[in-house]
Amino acid sequence: MFWVRDIETLLPEKLKELQVSLLDKTVKQAIKSPFYHKKLGEQGLTGISSLEDVNSLPFTEKEDLRSAFPYGFLCTELKEAVRLHSSSGTTGNPTVIFHTRKDIDEWANLIARCMYMTGATESDVFQNMMGYGLFTGGLGFHYGAEKLGMLTIPIGPGNSKRQIWFMKEFNVSVVHILPSYALRLQSLLREMGLDRKRDLPHLRIAYVGAEPHSEAMRKKIEKSLDVKAYNSYGLSEMCGPGVAFECEEQNGLHLWEDSFYMEIIDPETGKVLPEGEEGELVLTTLNREAMPLIRYRTRDLTRIMPGACPCGRTHRRIERIKGRSDDMLIINGVNVFPIQVERVLMGIPGIGTNYVIEVKKDKFMDKLYLKVEVDNKAFKGTLRDMEILEERVTEELKAELSVTPKVKLVESASLPVTEGKAVRVYDLRNT
Ligand code: AMP
Ligand code: ZN
Repeated sequence: MFWVRDIETLLPEKLKELQVSLLDKTVKQAIKSPFYHKKLGEQGLTGISSLEDVNSLPFTEKEDLRSAFPYGFLCTELKEAVRLHSSSGTTGNPTVIFHTRKDIDEWANLIARCMYMTGATESDVFQNMMGYGLFTGGLGFHYGAEKLGMLTIPIGPGNSKRQIWFMKEFNVSVVHILPSYALRLQSLLREMGLDRKRDLPHLRIAYVGAEPHSEAMRKKIEKSLDVKAYNSYGLSEMCGPGVAFECEEQNGLHLWEDSFYMEIIDPETGKVLPEGEEGELVLTTLNREAMPLIRYRTRDLTRIMPGACPCGRTHRRIERIKGRSDDMLIINGVNVFPIQVERVLMGIPGIGTNYVIEVKKDKFMDKLYLKVEVDNKAFKGTLRDMEILEERVTEELKAELSVTPKVKLVESASLPVTEGKAVRVYDLRNT
């Protein structure tokens, strides 16, 4: 099942030729933005004529996006942009991504291509359980599913009973869902006295992504829900989901090389690694109008898989994401940087300087736990005052992170102090 057979099966040599011309176009488009005008202009770069030339192009970092906030990366007139998305989980300025109408259309086509590749058709009924709004998971899949022609239910996350009711009443066959939530669904069904086979007989495909998950977790999802679960990878800086996706072989994710140019680098040295070695994924957009990005450091760790895929697609596959080269945590799909926690804590009077962050699984979902020392000198309140302080910390963190932590205040100097670099984050999930 090919959405665009010619492109999906383009011979590697032809694909490379296409990439060279699209990369050149991208550089020429990027120079129209204030950021790249300066950055590429300083190096006298105006285009490229071979893939080797890519090496001379500078990397783009998340920090660059923040520093050029709000319009520093915009390459078109503002009136040509029709949508803005923003990535969660950063301190200071958020990262914003602009799209023209054509960018949105290209993105929807990519998602349609991904879903069609797994056997979804216009006869399917699709329930999108990912967040709508600034997060790209909801709207990205929504437009793709409509492009494919599926009856699309834009339910968004939460309210499990309503989710299951819609699934049952409308014979939902395809869902887009967080892996952790997918595992929870089976027990929710049981709690509601429902039976997967009897009450959701049409369900057959689950797209799972937005957070790291293991092969074992996929198997668990497939077994508990009796579906085929396909890994979906993307990041808002590139568009959102639709960057790389598993085909029916479920053995690595085809990264769409007509839309993104990929490199794997050593995160320490920035050197491009030989094909097959594990490192950090670096991506360049190839079709974007409003906001092309050159050699964007995703911080995601993976490797390019060797050999051709039996499905016939020529776009190379990446392995499922192994982890990150920075300290970003992903909590039920929401990006959280430990530094955000620290910044909030340090702004609250009565809070000490030491704290510990733990991430654990609770009924299959991620839960953020925080132990925070109070400052005995500054805090001399009653037990009730302590509770009020705990509530304040929880509320302020919730506002900053979009994740509700479980906060416990502890005595001053009661948390362990490590020698050397402080270890404050313990990720105790076994994904
Ligand atoms: P955002 O820009 O908020 O959409 O977050 C993008 C990040 O989520 C990526 O850079 C990855 O770290 C993570 N991510 C997205 N999809 C997956 C996936 N299928 N497996 C592992 N991590 C993922
Ligand atoms: Zn394949």
